[in-house]
Amino acid sequence: MSNNTSLMEKIVSLTKRRGFIFPGSDIYGGLSGTWDYGPMGVLLKQKLINLWQDFFVLSQSNMLMIDSAILMNPKVWQASGHTETFTDPMVECQFCHNRFRADKIDLKICPICKKTNPFSSAKNFNLMFQTFVGPVSQDDQILKINRHDLEEILSQQPGEEININYDNFRTEKNPNLTYLRPETAQGIFTNFKNIIDVFYPDMPFGVAQFGKSFRNEISPRDFIFRSREFEQLEIEYFVHPEDWQKSFDHWVELIKQWYQLIGLKKNSIDLLEVAEGDRAHYSKKTIDFEFNYPIGKEEISGLAYRTDFDLRNVINFSNKNIEYRDKKTNQSFIPHVIEPSFGVERMLMALLCQAYTEETLEDGSQRIVLKLNNKLAPILVVVSPLLKNQQSLVEIAQRIFQDLKQSLKYVQYDDNGNIGKRYRRADEIGTPYCLTVDFQTLDDQTVTVRHRDSAKQERVNISSLKEYLVI
Ligand code: ATP
Repeated sequence: MSNNTSLMEKIVSLTKRRGFIFPGSDIYGGLSGTWDYGPMGVLLKQKLINLWQDFFVLSQSNMLMIDSAILMNPKVWQASGHTETFTDPMVECQFCHNRFRADKIDLKICPICKKTNPFSSAKNFNLMFQTFVGPVSQDDQILKINRHDLEEILSQQPGEEININYDNFRTEKNPNLTYLRPETAQGIFTNFKNIIDVFYPDMPFGVAQFGKSFRNEISPRDFIFRSREFEQLEIEYFVHPEDWQKSFDHWVELIKQWYQLIGLKKNSIDLLEVAEGDRAHYSKKTIDFEFNYPIGKEEISGLAYRTDFDLRNVINFSNKNIEYRDKKTNQSFIPHVIEPSFGVERMLMALLCQAYTEETLEDGSQRIVLKLNNKLAPILVVVSPLLKNQQSLVEIAQRIFQDLKQSLKYVQYDDNGNIGKRYRRADEIGTPYCLTVDFQTLDDQTVTVRHRDSAKQERVNISSLKEYLVI
């Protein structure tokens, strides 16, 4: 086992053991490509999303947010090209019949059964999950036949065996068929007219949305990195066609700042300009931001210049005029789009991989610690009485806990086991501060504050705790 594989396994195990992330439907044997967030995972994920919203939306003067439905009219996916082109090349091993994404494996050998030259030629596999709206199912296919062929069938004598030539029939797509959205972006394009009609923002402006997306990945793998259900955070930034390059460059810088803000080291992120043949069908320029994961260097988020591809398609398929009229020149045009697209799971995985540390402390003890940014740590402070059966200590600890809980919210009370065990638990979920109420507290109103990264302890007066605990 390579060091990186074992590091991934340790992270997967820690996140399960400490209630961050569980395999989806685990109790029934799981469902590949799905993951459930436990109490710690939810807090981490929510903090990350809130931070993203603060940085990219609330602190900008020209950004709006929407929250569109996951189920949309199937025309959305015809207009966007997803029904035709949202595919990955798939190969099947002729020996073990497992299926793989052709561009992600060495095609000379099957990764499962290890047979050589095992693959048939690649087929395009559409990644969208189908579903049916209303009380119908996939079986309700619509079969169409022309009157002449039908009359021929009916003209056969009663009692005679009827021969039906299925070539005379054609099936029509079930009108109730639609898809779980494979990206949040289209919800923004379909609401572009609503935004203009109601708000008419100055150009350039952005519309952001985060929420679940679904892709029937051929081989989900690498923990949460490639999931079938995941959370995207996307921005469609609308610009005058002449300004796209300037805006694109601006976004590159903003995204670099974002990764620093959440605590990813500068040298752990690389920018890769995607070659023309590898770009998505809608993009004229794409930069993949890549993170050095233990599984290798992989895309953490993307930045794409989508031109006017999407808005033009919405116009064509909806027959609505959704051009933007410039407020100064009165000139009408279809805005072009710069799209920064982030995935929560890939950012979480990067944060967890970078934060995971095994180390030996000065006293010789070993520990696992998640060195997460304070802003993201699920719990900021743990409050403990040194001994849980000493009423005088418990009373003060409870009072501090209740007080801090109101102001700092991400505060936990822990009186289980000895103090060493509490520190280990706090370290493993990345808690920056542990406060302990001990006998000295009774004399001088100070508590011990133990810092996660240095494991150093200090005495701090109870009355100055709120200023002391830096978020
Ligand atoms: P890949 O090439 O790895 O399949 P992609 O280029 O198809 O990814 P995009 O369509 O650009 O991905 O999606 C934007 C972002 O959404 C990605 O950068 C990633 O963070 C996230 N994302 C996409 N697919 C998945 C997935 N299956 N699981 C988790 N996150 C995903």
